Amino acid sequence: MDEKKIDEKSEEEAKNSSNFIIDIIDGDLESGKRESIVTRFPPEPNGYLHIGHAKSICLNFGVAKQYGGRCHLRFDDTNPEKEDTEYTNSIQEDVKWLGFDWGDNLYYASDYFEKLYQFAVQMIKEGTAFVCSLSGDEVKKNRGTATGAGVESPYRNRSVEENLELFSKMRNGEFKDGEQMLRAKIDMAHPSVLLRDPVLYRIKHMDHHRKGSEWCIYPMYDFAHGFSDAIEGITHSLCTLEFEAHRPLYNWLLDAIHIEKGPQQIEFARLNLSYTVMSKRKLMQLVDENLVNGWDDPRLPTISGLRRRGYTPESIRDFADRIGVAKRDSMVDIALLEHCIREDLNRWVPRRMGVLNPLKMVVTNYNDSEVEYFDAMNNPEKESDGTRKVPFSKELWIERDDFREVAPRKWRRLAPGKEVRLRSAYYVTLTDIIKDETGEVVEIHCTYDPESKGGWTEDERKVRGTIHWVSVAHAAEVEVRLYEPLFTVENPLNTEEDKDFKEYINPESLSVVQGFVEPLIAEFKPEQRFQFERLGYFVVDKESTPEKIVINRVVSLKERFKPKN
Ligand code: ATP
Ligand code: MG
Repeated sequence: MDEKKIDEKSEEEAKNSSNFIIDIIDGDLESGKRESIVTRFPPEPNGYLHIGHAKSICLNFGVAKQYGGRCHLRFDDTNPEKEDTEYTNSIQEDVKWLGFDWGDNLYYASDYFEKLYQFAVQMIKEGTAFVCSLSGDEVKKNRGTATGAGVESPYRNRSVEENLELFSKMRNGEFKDGEQMLRAKIDMAHPSVLLRDPVLYRIKHMDHHRKGSEWCIYPMYDFAHGFSDAIEGITHSLCTLEFEAHRPLYNWLLDAIHIEKGPQQIEFARLNLSYTVMSKRKLMQLVDENLVNGWDDPRLPTISGLRRRGYTPESIRDFADRIGVAKRDSMVDIALLEHCIREDLNRWVPRRMGVLNPLKMVVTNYNDSEVEYFDAMNNPEKESDGTRKVPFSKELWIERDDFREVAPRKWRRLAPGKEVRLRSAYYVTLTDIIKDETGEVVEIHCTYDPESKGGWTEDERKVRGTIHWVSVAHAAEVEVRLYEPLFTVENPLNTEEDKDFKEYINPESLSVVQGFVEPLIAEFKPEQRFQFERLGYFVVDKESTPEKIVINRVVSLKERFKPKN
């Protein structure tokens, strides 16, 4: 599909979506609280993006688009420990691939370090922040409980001058990690422990992936996030539900530096998907322990994994649209995601024939050296896609599962004496079964009816079944990777037995077979997609070469269930 079309479609999608966030925004525009809408997607560059992030991306960029506003891509890179440029690159690639554009609005929280430092200085001057010399453990111990107030730090009432001096020494590297910290001066009896003089800055003598050794103090998430939103003029800061409890702190900090008409934080439910795990930390474990083959393993719910698996940006945006935005956490069935890709691919991918579990068929009354080319429809859903020529000859590969020596009742495919249609070619009747010494069927023999050329007869004689086939002499041999869900249970993180999630990895999540497909050499380029008739949707893998063609199954044709929406 061309770029333009993608663009129009997502605009259309955006217009149609309605949810509680849209309602808030509409209210803000009506009341004059806001004149334009600015959102942001703020990933921490400590791993690859997953389908949960895709939900957030579609929401943030979608909302901005709907209101003619803008959406920033901001790297929330305030924690030097786990961050890396490999991730900032992959994140940008993934957001673009999903079909979104941040224009000139690419930002890094680390670029605000100086501004953030100045905000902290301002707070110290106004008496809303202080340098605390307690250890991390002591701070934790003094924080109190949900029901009991905490204990005030003995350093809480240091003079402004002393605080300024200490904070500047912290910045200049005169203390070791953990020796001092900057804390907000709020209330040690606050009902929320998050507001009991929370830590704003800590000392960490560690290089930053973009700033090198410029800093040895780093702001905490709550401090950096809200101020970054404010610096960029974000109007609606959309985040997942786990930040709901942080909202009072978010607002308190904006008040502390007197930001007017500052950003509003709104929380929505995070996406959970069945039979997989979603957190970057868990995905990282799978990658690091080689339980999957890299971040873009087609079994992973990462955007790069889904892409390699053959998912399209359209199908993922459609999925995000269907699941909508809610206020309560829930688990979405992976079958819905599969439904979205099936529906998309069904519309436009070419149909081809391929055999994954091959059995040789010899058409005994067909001339040894003859080859005929039959016209086959490229897509019955789209006649304008036209037809292609498929070579037919005496020896064919058919699917082993389309043959039974002893047929069950109502069997519509090949069995002794039965006639079937070879799609677009001829009717054939099974005459002989050839076995090896172990009794395994190695070949079947048939005769064809020359009157049934093209797959039909003048007298419209009916056959009970139609099967697919590939000419042995013309077939391309391919490696086909078949996938099943990565885990054997719906929620590997929440099971009755007290097991590690990795113990639920499905040993059959990947199986590899050698198949034969129509000679499509020109089409075997990575990301090319097909439907192999009766088998499912497939995509050429990035590892595929002309010498060794590798194809992934995106999804089978059969639905795990029929989604309601
Ligand atoms: P993870 O727990 O997977 O590491 P995270 O929340 O730490 O995710 P961030 O890089 O901080 O990852 O997330 C960037 C944005 O994506 C945040 O606004 C976050 O709320 C959102 N997000 C992350 N996971 C999901 C999810 N499963 N569903 C919806 N939004 C998500
Ligand atoms: Mg995180």
